[in-house]
Amino acid sequence: MSEAKSVLVVGSIALDTVKTPVEEHADLLGGSASYAALSASFFAPVNLVGVVGDDFPDSEFDFWRSRNIDARGVQRVNGKTFRWSGEYMWDMNTRETRSVALNVFEHFEPALPDAYRETEMVLLANIAPKLQSHVLDEMKRPRFVIADTMDLWIETTRDDLDALLPRVDLLILNDSEAREMTKETSLVKAGRRIRSYGPKFVAIKKGEHGALLFSENEFFSAGAYPLEDIHDPTGAGDTFAGGVAGYLAQHADGEVAFDQLRRAVIHGSVLASFCVEAFSLERLRTLSAAEIGERYQLFKMMTQFDFST
Ligand code: AMP
Repeated sequence: MSEAKSVLVVGSIALDTVKTPVEEHADLLGGSASYAALSASFFAPVNLVGVVGDDFPDSEFDFWRSRNIDARGVQRVNGKTFRWSGEYMWDMNTRETRSVALNVFEHFEPALPDAYRETEMVLLANIAPKLQSHVLDEMKRPRFVIADTMDLWIETTRDDLDALLPRVDLLILNDSEAREMTKETSLVKAGRRIRSYGPKFVAIKKGEHGALLFSENEFFSAGAYPLEDIHDPTGAGDTFAGGVAGYLAQHADGEVAFDQLRRAVIHGSVLASFCVEAFSLERLRTLSAAEIGERYQLFKMMTQFDFST
């Protein structure tokens, strides 16, 4: 396997309990790295880094193997897997965290197998920024680094996050996090300001309303795929990030161009649109490359507005 085309994914691996106004399911596979890795694997081989406890099902390791996800970087330690529980309101967008149990995640120190160190595309999925930096310290010379973050780290470990940002090529965060980080109400101003903190590119996700992409001189407003069936929005952001990373690993040679990033963002949105159609990773498990291609074409048609030339 060529490491050049692989994606290294580090983040949380969790057992989630998710409640929506109509359904509740417990002990589902979740975590930022689980979603991001499976999403990226549609485009490129994945080197996964994380930690699980002794309650974590072996069958997931078999599944990863079947999907070209190398899990040698997933430590299994004594204790319980990280657990998270959340509840969605009727709009299927507003979410309340009901409980978090760090468990084995509390003393997690990412350890990279030697074979991972030369991976050129790195996705630092949502975990503490200090751990994200630690992973970069262990890497040889990544070509492109993508990082995701969340409100918790902006509020509680801002210094660690600020230290990470100059090492990041693309920062992905959602609209409320961008506003919180910059104290700007305008997302355009927020995007520009976050770029000034270090990242070359910034992607701001707007939930069901698409995403904004910023570079030094260019800007892209990506629409969202209009969804009919939302069963569980959990992991949509991580799936988006995984799709972006996987697509870039598959297509970018040399420097990542803005055009490639635009297409990567749309592929990320396509993957995220499938993710929410079922609980946990269930829809992604059965998804095919043909379905991704079809929805991408549909997305393209729906967002085209000038047929005059
Ligand atoms: P998202 O819906 O994209 O925000 O991601 C949801 C996933 O993030 C869930 O599967 C959780 O297990 C995971 N998660 C929740 N809180 C944290 C946290 N503090 N650190 C890392 N992962 C988390």
